[in-house]
Amino acid sequence: MPTPRTALTARARTQEVDRRLEARFPGSAASLCALRHRNAFELVVATVLSAQCTDARVNEVTPPLFARFPTPAALASAPRDELEQLLYTTGFFRAKAEHLLGLAAVLCERFGGDVPSALEDLQRLPGVGRKTANVVRSVAFGLPGLPVDTHVMRLSRRLGLTRATEPVGIERALCRALPPAQWGGFSVRMILHGRATCTARRPACDECVLEDLCPRRGVALPMPAAAKRRTSR
Ligand code: SF4
Repeated sequence: MPTPRTALTARARTQEVDRRLEARFPGSAASLCALRHRNAFELVVATVLSAQCTDARVNEVTPPLFARFPTPAALASAPRDELEQLLYTTGFFRAKAEHLLGLAAVLCERFGGDVPSALEDLQRLPGVGRKTANVVRSVAFGLPGLPVDTHVMRLSRRLGLTRATEPVGIERALCRALPPAQWGGFSVRMILHGRATCTARRPACDECVLEDLCPRRGVALPMPAAAKRRTSR
């Protein structure tokens, strides 16, 4: 009698989820990333702006922003009022302007105007947490990095890929199960599946390519508010 798919180990289930989502959403992390950007600088800025904001809105705001302030040096000397006005529709515009001014200054002062690729260096930039650092690593540099956002957290729990509840614990469990070259793409595909099918309020289990793997099919599983807050950067 064949082993039920839901009885797979978490590691085997993660690998099967990866295989199926790659078939559904083929491409690299860079090609699947919804934030428009032309280089690592534009990506780190766009990712900071994406906190509590849709990618579509960020993509409306960034073209005029980068036309006016195309480099870290230009952004570091941006007039705060003008920057806040450009960021207004992304929400939390004062805090984001503060982060971007600080981020651009640190890029100029410590990194010669370049975006660093090491996780520790990226996390030193104002407004950049572990999630954003992993986005930049995997999308801009093609390096191993598995961003854990609210979708990755929710799907990992529903699919029983890990018992961890903190973003870092989830990231480590997923990274242990997958080869480093898959990390970035896996994260983006989980996000796309979370938006299209396994939504927070009403997962469309009947249409889900993971249905036979999923111990929680048909059961909405709200994420604890505290855990949700911890994924914001
Ligand atoms: S079966 Fe349902 S709960 Fe499980 S991953 Fe698919 S949509 Fe989400």
